[in-house]
Amino acid sequence: MAVEEILAKLVSFPVLGGESNMSIITWIKEYIESHNITTTLVLNEEGNKASLHCRIGPAVDGGVILSGHTDVVPVKGQEWTTDPFKLTDKGDGKLYGRGSCDMKGFVACCLAALPNMVKADLKKPIYFAFSYDEEVGCLAGPELAQAIKTHYTETPKYAIIGEPSLMEPIVGQKGIYILETYVNGSAGHSSRIKQEVSAIHEAMRLILWLENKMNQLIDDKRLDERFHPPHSSIHIGLVNGGIAPNVIADKAHFYWDLRTIPMDNTKTIVSEFEAYCREREQELQKIFPGFEIKTIENHPPVIHLNTKETDDVVALVKRISGNSKLNTVSYAAEAGQFAAEGIQSAICGPGSIAQAHRANEFIAKDELVKGMEMMDKLITELSSSNFK
Ligand SMILES: [Zn+2]
Repeated sequence: MAVEEILAKLVSFPVLGGESNMSIITWIKEYIESHNITTTLVLNEEGNKASLHCRIGPAVDGGVILSGHTDVVPVKGQEWTTDPFKLTDKGDGKLYGRGSCDMKGFVACCLAALPNMVKADLKKPIYFAFSYDEEVGCLAGPELAQAIKTHYTETPKYAIIGEPSLMEPIVGQKGIYILETYVNGSAGHSSRIKQEVSAIHEAMRLILWLENKMNQLIDDKRLDERFHPPHSSIHIGLVNGGIAPNVIADKAHFYWDLRTIPMDNTKTIVSEFEAYCREREQELQKIFPGFEIKTIENHPPVIHLNTKETDDVVALVKRISGNSKLNTVSYAAEAGQFAAEGIQSAICGPGSIAQAHRANEFIAKDELVKGMEMMDKLITELSSSNFK
């Protein structure tokens, strides 16, 4: 099957992050197995979602993992001019459809290149690693990376995560952590503000603490100029609390996210915040013994990517992508999760992130061509006995 035909098939599965992906993963599995390659599914506990991995080529150390996700973001509330789950060629050099660029375009390139990979005399193996639930917090990546490490007797050396990067090698990604904080105060008439504990007043104090923490990191020159912005960010995106202007709020709650540059430690920031919360609890329990602040994970942390420019994977991705300009991103991806397993990782894939997650998402046809060229070059590299 040609790459566009495969992409049309992949786009036709409307699998959103968080939903069962068995339909699309079963189609991919059958396609790969029709080329006489054995696949392995890594199922979730409920058995309704699965990642897939497989190896093409010899069982020797030093191979390359090609990683992609099978889920997409919702289309609800977006103004699409075509059916988002039907790949549409409007004759303008672009193929429209949800996931066409993020990131079924890359997965289609992998699958379209499979017959050539099978035919080639590979000296080092290629692995496919296709996950689910990436768009709801990269939930399946860590388990998939571990499954590959334990399943095969040999060890892969590199991972290329095909997120849309206009084929530019991406070597850095911020860590992301989303949290929720609940404040439990005491209700009462607003005139009694000194006798009760307002959950809103305390939540605001915590929010200010978080903003001050971010500013302190910047003042301390904790900067990594590879990123835009170059500092870790702490942001509160949603606040709830209170019922009326003359009622002291007994409950308040806010969502926040933490996007950390590699030199900053998410855990340290959160534990400093927790220490401040305990301080406030001790203080305010003198007024209201039931006062409590609780912070929970909204999403498990997605670890940063911090690939060094001198790492071999960078040279490899430069050669096969034809691009030597390195970049970093501030969105979440599975690259750091593969790197955490000791696999040198970089992001590089067809299409632009500017088209991702929005109405009328598309991939330019020439980007798909470049994606296929990268596959061809990878096959040539891995067929050489000089490949390291
Ligand atoms: Zn993606």
